[in-house]
Amino acid sequence: MSETFKGSFTQQEPISDAAIEAAVNVLRHGRLHRYNVDRDEAGEVALLEQEFAAFVGVKYCLAVASGGYALACALRAHGVKPGDPVLTNAFTLAPVPGAIASLGAVPVFVETNAALGLDFEHLETKIWASGAKTLLLSHMRGHQPDMDKVLAICAAHQVQLIEDCAHTMGGSWGGKPSGSHGLSACFSTQTYKHLNSGEGGLFVTNDADIAARAVLLSGSYMLFDRHLAAPGREHFAAITGDVPNISGRMDNLRAAILRPQLADLGAQVSRWSALHKAVSQGLRDTPGLALITPDPGAVRVGSSFQFLLSDWRADNVQAVVARCGARGVELKWFGADQAAGYTSRYDHWAYANPPHLPMTDKVLAGLVDMRLPLTFCADDARQIARIIRAEVGAVFQQGDAER
Ligand SMILES: *Cc1c(COP(=O)(O)O)cnc(C)c1O
Repeated sequence: MSETFKGSFTQQEPISDAAIEAAVNVLRHGRLHRYNVDRDEAGEVALLEQEFAAFVGVKYCLAVASGGYALACALRAHGVKPGDPVLTNAFTLAPVPGAIASLGAVPVFVETNAALGLDFEHLETKIWASGAKTLLLSHMRGHQPDMDKVLAICAAHQVQLIEDCAHTMGGSWGGKPSGSHGLSACFSTQTYKHLNSGEGGLFVTNDADIAARAVLLSGSYMLFDRHLAAPGREHFAAITGDVPNISGRMDNLRAAILRPQLADLGAQVSRWSALHKAVSQGLRDTPGLALITPDPGAVRVGSSFQFLLSDWRADNVQAVVARCGARGVELKWFGADQAAGYTSRYDHWAYANPPHLPMTDKVLAGLVDMRLPLTFCADDARQIARIIRAEVGAVFQQGDAER
């Protein structure tokens, strides 16, 4: 009889006892609002910001209500205005073009290649054609392109780089933490990301003026000097009347449960790497299936797994997804005509007038995606790989998968 996987692809680990204790402490004193602090008390949010800035190796950090809020706040803090074109990858998640559209700015999609990175030639073409001065680069599913090349292109065209690190928190490129390459970067602490506070976001930058604007935008009133990872007063004085309050602060309860998780993140990244490696090894040399080749500079966080069934017919890819699903392995396909669950693609975002992108279409037509929660162990990862390997093989050997 063929084996079936019994684990849940949507079950994260429980919140640790240390984090629960920290949360209960906040509930007991009742000062949940970030600026409601006792005398000589820094507050959990301010401490989280300080610790996260140190983790990424940047000067300034702002904790906010969600990853999507962090993205929109970053765009505003960078001075993006309604009608401005903003470059972003065609392969990303809905909150990224959504953040651009929330300002009345216009997403300009850049082709995604088979390594799930930006196509640099198309990036330059779109910079020329659109006149865009901002690139919101989404490291979707943890895949980072050659960041030296990205920075060189941005420098050559005076394009400011904002990194979306929702899937690369804890990862690095060229030995530098993800989120420290661009002018600023955004992270999410939503349940399915690398830290879990249900909802939440983090914004980082080394630019004092951008940081000051972000703090004011998030709804700091005149309490910005209660921040521990924000620039000094002098950066706020000249701009307080010019920056609207668009409230989106993080609260002390969420920050309290994030701080112990952040302290553990390095260990969690190693556990994700082990899971990812086990699946990768189990799928190596599977006929018809291609693994994604990472950029050599990238250290990835293996919280999800992608592979390509390139040039397969749609019904055959769907058969693999269905057959694996029947054996407990939940795969998602980026080639579907309709958005499903969390999976959607650029041409589903009609509001953004998506162009036709043949390179991206070809990649997404064969792209299969899977979560790897830390509730899985190495044996689970090996079993999942065996099941995928068997079902890809079964469909491929029927002989009608196009090559
Ligand atoms: C989750 C996610 C976001 C936004 O995060 P939320 O906290 O859910 O708003 C942004 N980009 C990517 C790629 C994501 O997966």
